Amino acid sequence: MPEQRPYDLLAGAHGCVAAAGGVTGTVAIIAPHSRAAECCMIPVGTMPNSAEIAKVLDALITNGLDFVEKSAGELKDEPKFSIGHFATGLELLLKARLFVEHWALTAAHPHECTWTGMKDGTIVTIQASDICDAVEKITGTDMRNHRKVFEAVFNHRNRTLHWLPSEDVNLVAAEQCRAWYRLHQLLSGLWASQFASHRARIDAVDKSLLVHKEYLTARFEALCNQLKGFQAKGALTCCWACKFNAAVVDYPDDPISTIRCKVCLSSGGAARFPCGEWLLLEDLPCECTCGDFHSKKELLADLDPANHMSPKDASTTGQTTLSCGECLNCQVVVPVPGKSTWVCTECGAHFETKEIGTCEYCNEEWVGYDTSDSAWRGCEFCDGHPDRHLTRPPGTPGTHPQGHQPHQPPGRSSSEVDPEIRTRG
Ligand SMILES: [Zn+2]
Ligand SMILES: [Zn+2]
Ligand SMILES: [Zn+2]
Ligand SMILES: [Zn+2]
Repeated sequence: MPEQRPYDLLAGAHGCVAAAGGVTGTVAIIAPHSRAAECCMIPVGTMPNSAEIAKVLDALITNGLDFVEKSAGELKDEPKFSIGHFATGLELLLKARLFVEHWALTAAHPHECTWTGMKDGTIVTIQASDICDAVEKITGTDMRNHRKVFEAVFNHRNRTLHWLPSEDVNLVAAEQCRAWYRLHQLLSGLWASQFASHRARIDAVDKSLLVHKEYLTARFEALCNQLKGFQAKGALTCCWACKFNAAVVDYPDDPISTIRCKVCLSSGGAARFPCGEWLLLEDLPCECTCGDFHSKKELLADLDPANHMSPKDASTTGQTTLSCGECLNCQVVVPVPGKSTWVCTECGAHFETKEIGTCEYCNEEWVGYDTSDSAWRGCEFCDGHPDRHLTRPPGTPGTHPQGHQPHQPPGRSSSEVDPEIRTRG
């Protein structure tokens, strides 16, 4: 059985944590007698005051940024140390985001965590491999596009420490470039208020990582001939992370496509707007180089067939946009004009028509989602049959053999659900 993660252990405290999440500033505001403290079973006498919490948070962020900056200077002569220090910096900054919600959340076992242990350095902190899941559940940040990139950095550190592989420094620079892009996006965007007091330092570290440019240029030059072929097919655009004209568009004729950069190996879903620019879906809404603001709302309005029908036709056609089985967003998948495929305006996933299914309980139309048994268990948007909630011993008449399937975090298919979670419903 996998080790329990802190948010499992904090079950019941999530309400408190979520409430704290809306408060800006660098100090966790959960009071000694708050429900979170009770749920964490932290002795009230060991609770820190706000000045102590602010001091530790400041150290976490400062050290995280120091390690990232240090890694940039080591890339050329000591790539092994650069890999280790970059991963440590990333880990500390993600831990700092958890710390903002509650200091005990940086521990592997929050309910056993004491402030004294935190100060003495004797607590076991959350493992790097668990951080992305914890950040997503505790802060509500959608880590779908960050998880793979961050975990590659942590895995590379482990390989380097244990196996001493020979490093292709150009590839190391590519890995750090795409990870820093994602991290910087969080620190200066969604998490800007939590990291506001370190804004200038974050900008300075961003500049120090321009050192990647030299190595990425070498990769770009080596790929030049290959990229010319994509350019001729109109399937090349500028990469959002490394800024080289090296991002290959998988479906250049479609309004939405996955894009993969050959230089820094970043990938993501993007949309092409009437001005011709490809913009990363997760960056929307944003200002375009054409001077306009583009948004997912604009995209959906343009691609929803109902908006191009007469009012009479629209009223009789039924559902023209489908719900997405990849990102679980409601009615965001649109047909690709002139093709029999469908594409999600939220996550960029492409689907075949044969993947469409209907929830047999609420009639919601899905694509890429398992609707078998939905008359009983429902879907993401309905609770299914009322008798489903009756608890009977397995195998007794009236008990559904598969029981309740819990809500899954975005980006996970039903086959990836932790079996421990699956049985909890
Ligand atoms: Zn790139
Ligand atoms: Zn534009
Ligand atoms: Zn989607
Ligand atoms: Zn349903």
